Amino acid sequence: MTGDAAGPVALAIDLDAIAANWRLLSRKHAGPVAAVVKADAYGLGAAKVAPHLHAAGCRHFFVAHPSEALALRPLLPTVMLAVLNGLWPGVEDELAAHGIAPVLGSLDEIDRWSATAAHVGHALPALLHVDTGMNRLGLSLPEIDALAAEPDRLGGIALLYVMTHLVSAEFPDDPENQRQRLRFDAACARLPIAPRSIANSAGIFLGPDFALDLARPGAALYGINPMPGQPNPMAPVVRLRARILQARDVQQGETVGYNGQWIAPRASRIATVSVGYADGYLRSLTNRATAYFDGRPVPLVGRVSMDLSTFDVTDAPGAQPGAWLDLIGPHHDVDAVAREAGTNGYEILTSLGARYARTYQAA
Ligand SMILES: *Cc1c(COP(=O)(O)O)cnc(C)c1O
Repeated sequence: MTGDAAGPVALAIDLDAIAANWRLLSRKHAGPVAAVVKADAYGLGAAKVAPHLHAAGCRHFFVAHPSEALALRPLLPTVMLAVLNGLWPGVEDELAAHGIAPVLGSLDEIDRWSATAAHVGHALPALLHVDTGMNRLGLSLPEIDALAAEPDRLGGIALLYVMTHLVSAEFPDDPENQRQRLRFDAACARLPIAPRSIANSAGIFLGPDFALDLARPGAALYGINPMPGQPNPMAPVVRLRARILQARDVQQGETVGYNGQWIAPRASRIATVSVGYADGYLRSLTNRATAYFDGRPVPLVGRVSMDLSTFDVTDAPGAQPGAWLDLIGPHHDVDAVAREAGTNGYEILTSLGARYARTYQAA
């Protein structure tokens, strides 16, 4: 969808703020800093975000699916482009042809990538994923032993990084971080020597023990606080605004929206905007979200419906049809909306709707 500033909803994405966040993380982390641009760069638009980060100096990119890597490859022809979710059977030749690096997380994946290298006649890039506690993807300790006993299984594979993923990086006091760190050391000691990668956004803030070669931030690039409970060091990236379609007066005791989930405690003025759960403005925000009008909070009242939401603007007299409400913005960031919805900022961003007119700010 093209940007339509005249429309009823505006989603502004600050590409320069994303680049500034990448630079901040690059100052914080001694080694190279990648960009995780899976899920369409957390809903913000990978085709815009990734080239902007490349221009800022980023040379390592991660996606989750092969299709995401293939779509990005023409925009990022020379960088490391890695597929976190591994090597799905049948995609080997296409990934090889485009120099895309799968993150290999099982012996079967290793064997198929090694066979593909033999078949194409040159070495193929890959990362190895070691599981240290997440128990989703990655080589288990017995698999690492099997690999250590038969190192030829990595034949033809140009090993770029060995990586693992932290379970609770955003909780620095969780002892699991250190346990994973030690398990990773033990695993790496049995594998061929290669650069290592452990830190996601929050991991970058865990201190020097976690400052291994390549950092893999996603969330913090997009403005999510990598240190919950502390001041957010990241620049805000997303601003979601909606214009009031109608404003109406309701009497004390009248209800607003489906199933009468809000009953006016006093004579009230209700503003309706063109944003609902079909746009990723989650239904769990019912009676909980806050928007801002002219710097002043206005509470969401009643059920969030598919295409509409309603706010109590009784105390905001200027909130007339055509006026803008800030749903995500300077007064109320992604993490704040996430708290109201009972989720995390990742889900708020990756749910941002396809109907929003996205506009991109870059100098
Ligand atoms: C999504 C993901 C990341 C990025 O994590 P953030 O918390 O968004 O920084 C890094 N590594 C892996 C394996 C991931 O799946």
